[in-house]
Amino acid sequence: MGPGPSDVSARVLGALSRPTIGHLDPLFLQLMDEIKALLQYAFQTKNPLTLPISAPGSAGMEACFANLVSPGDTVIVCQNGVFGGRMKENVERCGGTAVMVQDEWGRSVDPAKVESAFIAHPEASILAFVHAETSTGASSDAAALCELATRHGALSIVDTVTSLAGIEVAVDRWQADAVYSGTQKCLSCVPGISPVTFSERAVARINQRTHKVQSWFLDMQLVMEYWGGDGKRAYHHTAPVNDLYALHEALLILQEEGLEASHARHLHNHQALVAGLEAMGLAMAVDAAHRLPQLNSVTIPQGVDDAALRSALLNEFDLEIGAGLGALAGKTWRIGLMGFASNERNVLYCLQALEAVLQSQGAPICAGQALPAARAALGQ
Ligand SMILES: *Cc1c(COP(=O)(O)O)cnc(C)c1O
Repeated sequence: MGPGPSDVSARVLGALSRPTIGHLDPLFLQLMDEIKALLQYAFQTKNPLTLPISAPGSAGMEACFANLVSPGDTVIVCQNGVFGGRMKENVERCGGTAVMVQDEWGRSVDPAKVESAFIAHPEASILAFVHAETSTGASSDAAALCELATRHGALSIVDTVTSLAGIEVAVDRWQADAVYSGTQKCLSCVPGISPVTFSERAVARINQRTHKVQSWFLDMQLVMEYWGGDGKRAYHHTAPVNDLYALHEALLILQEEGLEASHARHLHNHQALVAGLEAMGLAMAVDAAHRLPQLNSVTIPQGVDDAALRSALLNEFDLEIGAGLGALAGKTWRIGLMGFASNERNVLYCLQALEAVLQSQGAPICAGQALPAARAALGQ
């Protein structure tokens, strides 16, 4: 129950162990087409350029920046946690200038500040932001931010690594241009793959490039020779065949449950966890309006030994929760309820384990309150 990788179901692990076939085998090409269609469903897009990059979420991030940012470009980058800082790094390594819009860690990105940045920098050609900041547990208003980018004639790059399948990601409705995700968070698949999708506007920008993309591996025009389709697929790199079996299965599971049902399940379990934590006397670190149901940031009470508590949870209860990152290190815990791991059993088990360890540390909590509160919220 950390910030990812989340638990992988037996069904997905089973898919992973199917016999490895060639990355150009006709059956595999058929699987690739199915993965593409399933990813279009997950991202809620009709974008033809939708595919899984053969590397983790960070590579999806890098693919978006490397293909869209040319030397000399100005990019407005929103930072309200760790991952916005990585976006800045990407812009600078592509030879661009990052104009930073800073918001407090644990808050969402403020669209008014982004609007001011566009007015101050009319030359900005891209807006980049993180939809679900895993380092803090805060969500941002992707629809409003993408609309600002469109209104100012800029493309948008959106990080949906933690949001996809946990909360709504509506690529076409937002008119988002380059969107990347990961497999190991709310898709509950093995780590190491990054689904991406590019709009027609983004593809046009890539086609207008005058400089070659600095990364050979992530150059989307080359990747398309393999993933492009129309039966003309050519070798670019050896696809992680078994990982893609797993992704296919994880996406089928998502489609069977349905996106809306998946979002509702994440919200339901989150509400029960929060009810239990608050009944115990703990406080959430993010305002209720911006909380991510899949990543719950909890303020560590005064006097509690963070490292000792987390190792007791791991050693005595086989339970992993996440530590605070960056500016929030030592100040918060991050409890994941992602994908397959977002279930009632985990909510109750986590509350019981946390209560037992906090009590053994002598922390001033209200014992015996958490489980009844969580059960009531679950309707049990
Ligand atoms: C996990 C995560 C990433 C990086 O994904 P990796 O698979 O670890 O490379 C990027 N952005 C966000 C918001 C994340 O949560």
